Amino acid sequence: MADCQETLQELERFLDSELPPGRSEQILSHLKVCSDCQGAFEFHAELRIAIRTKATSDELPEGFLDRLKSCFGDEILGQDASA
Ligand SMILES: [Zn+2]
Repeated sequence: MADCQETLQELERFLDSELPPGRSEQILSHLKVCSDCQGAFEFHAELRIAIRTKATSDELPEGFLDRLKSCFGDEILGQDASA
């Protein structure tokens, strides 16, 4: 189980989908129970999506957004990044 420090350290790589699946699950599990890290994650996630949406038309890896939505609800994304 990831703790706060690990989660925050790996947040950037998590958002880049650079973590192995098992590690991502640990981060997600922690985010679900930790409002502090969830807040940090939401901020970074929205920032990333906004940047990606403006900079390129690339979408996040298939299933990634759905997993986030299933964990946190649609509101975490602020806006739908898919065209
Ligand atoms: Zn935490």
